[in-house]
Amino acid sequence: MVDRKKRYLLSFLIVRTFSLFLILLNSYFRKLLNYLEDTGGIRMSNVTLPGTTGVRNRILGHASRLEYSWKRGEVSTSAPVCIEIHPTNRCNLKCVFCSYNDIRQGEYLPVPAFRDLVTDLINCTPTVKSVILSGGGEPSVHPYFSEAVHRLVDAGIEVGVITNGVLLTEKIKQAYLKCSWIRISIDVPWEETYVRLMSPHKPENFKQVIKNCKILSDERRRLNQDWPTIGLAYIMTKDSQSDEAFFKCIDIGVESKADYIMYRALLDLESEQITRPLSELRELLPKLEKYANNVGMPHQFEHFLNEFNQNSQKHVPTHLKECPIVQDGIYAYVAATGDVVPCYAIYKELMDDEWKYGNIKDMSFNEIWNSKLREEVIKRINASACPFCHFQVQNKILSEIDEKYAVNVEKEIQMEDIHWKFL
Ligand code: SF4
Repeated sequence: MVDRKKRYLLSFLIVRTFSLFLILLNSYFRKLLNYLEDTGGIRMSNVTLPGTTGVRNRILGHASRLEYSWKRGEVSTSAPVCIEIHPTNRCNLKCVFCSYNDIRQGEYLPVPAFRDLVTDLINCTPTVKSVILSGGGEPSVHPYFSEAVHRLVDAGIEVGVITNGVLLTEKIKQAYLKCSWIRISIDVPWEETYVRLMSPHKPENFKQVIKNCKILSDERRRLNQDWPTIGLAYIMTKDSQSDEAFFKCIDIGVESKADYIMYRALLDLESEQITRPLSELRELLPKLEKYANNVGMPHQFEHFLNEFNQNSQKHVPTHLKECPIVQDGIYAYVAATGDVVPCYAIYKELMDDEWKYGNIKDMSFNEIWNSKLREEVIKRINASACPFCHFQVQNKILSEIDEKYAVNVEKEIQMEDIHWKFL
């Protein structure tokens, strides 16, 4: 009888201990998953594009370059890993919603200054890993565009281009075929909207963009190479807010032989913005997912929902005073005016001399990067008072990063993400 009691007690204790162990294990895994999610761990739920691991992970792919200078109130002078260059503010389209409409005056980088900038960046390899050519205006209309791409890529720097896709001369095509990725802003899914909002004088441009995308994709296949990754980007407006329009975007992606499509929210020009409520748009997600999976077109809709949500709240202030991505110097931005400033948002919203580090028409990029003025400008940044920031997620990751964890996952991210060199 006593033995039976003891056995019962022992089994009870074993079962309780085991359950407790399972509960603890479960809570540990939950914490680990949350941690991975918060710090941009390796497999993120926002990953929808082929061969990539999500923008949050890109920071961790550069862990060994991080100097954590913002934690010491210092400014890093090491070369950046990713540079965004706007070669020109001139454009071959007239989009009414272009975020540059109110600031551009046809500026462009003079060819000698652009050439010297490319030389400076090449001299900073291997720290400098990638360049994004975008606008401002349409980067491919700059006379030095193709040569800049060839020189950068030949020196081991990866290039990504954001273009409206209208222009595709043989020279530009050859340059695109050397890039790691091309994002074509077709912006709308209907020809009528394209003509009304973007190209009133050349209605044929809409069909031309689809054709050019197809040409690039076919040429890439013919050359038996996996680059560039070709994406189609849409800016959803009130003309394209119906369910039908969202599905049509996927169809155009298939027709153009793009690798993926992405939806963006219209941030400027309130009169053309989507008027549907966020909750209604959210309901579209599973239907779009099913449709995109059936036709084999990867798409990024969640990013659009976030952006749309943020836009409806207008300015989302950050809790940070410092700007880690700028203070650690891993990202650089050169405007079409030649000005080197902390970031595109500051350039566009503030346009003030007090935010300029220097101008590449007067000094070399390296001189500007190492100047006292750059340090002074960066120390004046108060991120919580910044305009709409494109690096909020990256800055959040940087401000919470665990240095050991970051270095440990760096190699894994580099292997998993074909575009890890970009931020
Ligand atoms: S807008 Fe963002 S990236 Fe630019 S300086 Fe402010 S916090 Fe940094």
